[in-house]
Amino acid sequence: MLPYSHVFVQQSVDQCIPIRVSVTLTERCNERCRHCYIPHTASSPGLPTARLLSLFDELAEAGCVALTMTGGEPLLRPDLLQLLQTARAQRFAIGLFTNATLIDEEWAETLAGVGLQGVEVSVYGATAEVHEAITQRKGSFAQTMAGVRRLTERGVNVVLKFLVTRLSVGQLEQLPALAASLHCDWQAEHDLKPRLDGNTDPQSLRIEEADLPRTLQFVEVGSDHPSQLSLRGSNILCSGGRNLGSVNARGEVLPCIIWPDAWSLGNVLTHSFGEIWRGPRAQQFRKSTTGRHSSQCAECEEEPWCERCPAVSLLLEGDVRSPYPTACEHARIRRRAAATAEKVP
Ligand code: SF4
Ligand code: SF4
Repeated sequence: MLPYSHVFVQQSVDQCIPIRVSVTLTERCNERCRHCYIPHTASSPGLPTARLLSLFDELAEAGCVALTMTGGEPLLRPDLLQLLQTARAQRFAIGLFTNATLIDEEWAETLAGVGLQGVEVSVYGATAEVHEAITQRKGSFAQTMAGVRRLTERGVNVVLKFLVTRLSVGQLEQLPALAASLHCDWQAEHDLKPRLDGNTDPQSLRIEEADLPRTLQFVEVGSDHPSQLSLRGSNILCSGGRNLGSVNARGEVLPCIIWPDAWSLGNVLTHSFGEIWRGPRAQQFRKSTTGRHSSQCAECEEEPWCERCPAVSLLLEGDVRSPYPTACEHARIRRRAAATAEKVP
């Protein structure tokens, strides 16, 4: 019998119930991270408070159980506490994505009282030098570490999200130790997405091919990619737009956080979330992302190891089904690693 969690995820995919939705509260940020998928020219302050509060009602009605509040930097919103408390009263499991630099004693006490499912904090290296080469803000490493410590001291569940780049790949062994010293769990990611406007600058931070095998091994220890849950053997590109959705700072409803506005399913400033999620554009999106493969992928021997992201295909190649070089390269390495592991008695 399948594990219950697997059945739950599969049912939500099949029935297009958006169990996991991220809401970008603002595009404003006090850092200027080089890898960020939000274009550096974007500066939307986010939806008005009243619309966000009514949106939470609509998300609950649509079946959302896990609500992620992200940015930009969510703590730049003066109404953040009201948003968190209202969402908590609606019994969402709330995840907050923050760089933690603004979490002083008062904020830590406040956040500890909200009852968050977890706080996720991106960290780009084990030292200030490496981390700040990405954030482009002096002092940000110490501020992030202090913010995280203030939260964990109060029992808040914090997950450090390590981004492995060519700058931090030499520090892989130090990253779990850093998380342990702060009493945090950790996850890791290495796949740099282009920005939503198609700018490929973040990819200049990609690790060298020689470092890929050990990086993939490291990343897989802590990976939690929602799109891969129970989708092996299914006939859809990924779970974005099915059991996973996103509302950006301008109110556009998107299949997941990294789709550009041109693929919006509708805007919550003019329609309810439920109308949009069940509406014609959403249905068209699901139709156009059914059928997993281009002809090249259909014949590919590496396909069982492939984690190609359709949004990255779109941003890099202009087609949601096109292979792109890093997807193929990573699949090749995973296949080779699996073959080697199988040979171990
Ligand atoms: S589009 Fe990419 S990032 Fe979004 S859910 Fe699908 S695979 Fe994941
Ligand atoms: S490895 Fe490349 S060609 Fe093969 S399935 Fe993945 S994206 Fe397609």
